[in-house]
Amino acid sequence: MIDFDIPADVAALRDQIRAFVNDKIVPYETDARLTRHGPDDGLRAELVGLAREAGLLTFQAPRRFGGGREPSHREQAVLFEAAGWSTLGPIALNCAAPDEGNMFLLGRVANDEQVEQFLIPVIDGRQRSVFAMTEPGGAGSDPNQLNTTAEFDGTHYVINGRKWLITGANGARTWIIMARVAPNPHGPDGPTLFLCEAGPHGPEGLVIERVMNTMDRNYVEGHGVVRFTDLRLPASAVLGDVGQALRYAQLRLAPARLTHCMRWLGAASRAQSIAIKHARERTAFGKTLGEHQGVGFMIADNEIALQQCRLAIWWACWTLDMGDRGTGRHESSMVKAYVSEELFKVADRCVQILGGIGISDETPVGMIFSDMRAFRLYDGPTEVHKYAIARQVLRP
Ligand SMILES: Cc1cc2nc3c(=O)[nH]c(=O)nc-3n(C[C@H](O)[C@H](O)[C@H](O)COP(=O)(O)OP(=O)(O)OC[C@H]3O[C@@H](n4cnc5c(N)ncnc54)[C@H](O)[C@@H]3O)c2cc1C
Repeated sequence: MIDFDIPADVAALRDQIRAFVNDKIVPYETDARLTRHGPDDGLRAELVGLAREAGLLTFQAPRRFGGGREPSHREQAVLFEAAGWSTLGPIALNCAAPDEGNMFLLGRVANDEQVEQFLIPVIDGRQRSVFAMTEPGGAGSDPNQLNTTAEFDGTHYVINGRKWLITGANGARTWIIMARVAPNPHGPDGPTLFLCEAGPHGPEGLVIERVMNTMDRNYVEGHGVVRFTDLRLPASAVLGDVGQALRYAQLRLAPARLTHCMRWLGAASRAQSIAIKHARERTAFGKTLGEHQGVGFMIADNEIALQQCRLAIWWACWTLDMGDRGTGRHESSMVKAYVSEELFKVADRCVQILGGIGISDETPVGMIFSDMRAFRLYDGPTEVHKYAIARQVLRP
C-alpha cells in the first residue's frame, strides 16, 4: 500500500543536483557577497549561471513554460532536499523562496500576457520576484488585517500602504502586491493581488525605504521595508480576480510551506553531517566526542528527527499530489509546524556538538541555525498553525 521507492529518473536527477550543489555551490558559502542581507544580486547571477550551464536551472518549472520533468510534489521533496544541502543551492537552481512560490502562483493564476511579462523572466532566472503582504501594524499572521488600499477610478488602481519583511524587495522586477480594493461603483472590492514591474528607478510610487537587519542570511538581498505612495497600476495589473487575494495566498502557501521544509531538511542534514564528522574526529576525556553517550544521543536524536521530518513531508506532498481529494492545507500546516520546530532542534544540537566553532562561521552550521530560527516564523508561525489545526479538529 505504501511505496517509498524513488523512480530511477528522479534518483538520477537528485544525484546530479546533489553533486552540483556539493562541488560547485558549497565553495561559495564563504564568498564575501553572501552579506548580512543575504547573497547579493551579483552572487546570485553567478550561481544561476552555473546552474544554467549544468542544465539544472529551475528544474521544477512546468513543461508548458519550458521546464523539464515537471516533478510531482513527492518528487520535489526528494529534489529540493538535495538542493538544500547548501543554503545557496536553491538560489543557484532557482527553486528558492520567494521566487519558487511566486512562480507556482503565477503559473496557476496569471493570464497569458502576465505570464510573458512577469513569469517567464523569473523562470529564466533573469529577474527576481517578491510577494508583498506583511505590514507593520496590519497584515501578518492575520492577513485579514490588510491595511494597504487600492482605490479604483474605473481605469487605474491607486495603491497606498507600507509593507515590511518583504524578501528580495531590493532589486526585484516582478512584484506581487496585496492590497484591499475599496468599495467602488465600477466593480468588486476586497483583498486583491496586483502585478507590478519595478526597475532601478521606479515605478513612481514604489519606494524601498531600507533593507532590515535580520538574523537570517540566505534570502537574496534580504528583507525590505517598502512604501507605496499613489502607485498607479492599470486594471490589467490585477492577478486573477478582484477580492480573491486570500484564496490565492492559500493556493501558494500550502506547497510553499512544504518546499521550505524540503530545502531546510537538506540544510539540517548537512549540519548533521558536519556534526558527525566532528564527533568522529574531536576528542575529549580520552575518547572521541561521539563515544560519549551524551553526544551519541544528540546524533541519534537528530537522525530520528531528520527521518521523521522527511516522512512527514512526503506524506503531506502525497495529499497535494492527490489533487481533487483536498487542498493539503491542513496537512501542510501540521507538517510545517512540526518540521520547523524539529529541524531547529537538530540545528541547535549540531551547534552544541561543534562546541565554540558551532557559533562561528568556520562551518555553515551557525548560519543554518540562525536561518532555521527564522523558519519557525514565516509562512505561518508555529502558534498560528497550531491555532488553525486546533480550530479544525475542535469543529463539531
Ligand atoms: C525571514 C522572513 C521572511 C519573510 N518574507 C516575507 C515576504 O516575502 N513577504 C511577506 O509578505 N511577508 C514575509 N514575512 C513575514 C511573515 O509572513 C510574517 O512574519 C508572519 O506572517 C507573521 O506575521 P508578523 O511577523 O506580523 O507576526 P504577528 O502577526 O505580529 O504575530 C507575532 C506572534 O504572535 C503569535 N500569534 C499570532 N497569532 C496567533 C494565534 N492565532 N495563536 C497563537 N499565537 C499567535 C505568534 O507567536 C507570532 O509569532 C517574512 C518573515 C520572515 C521572518
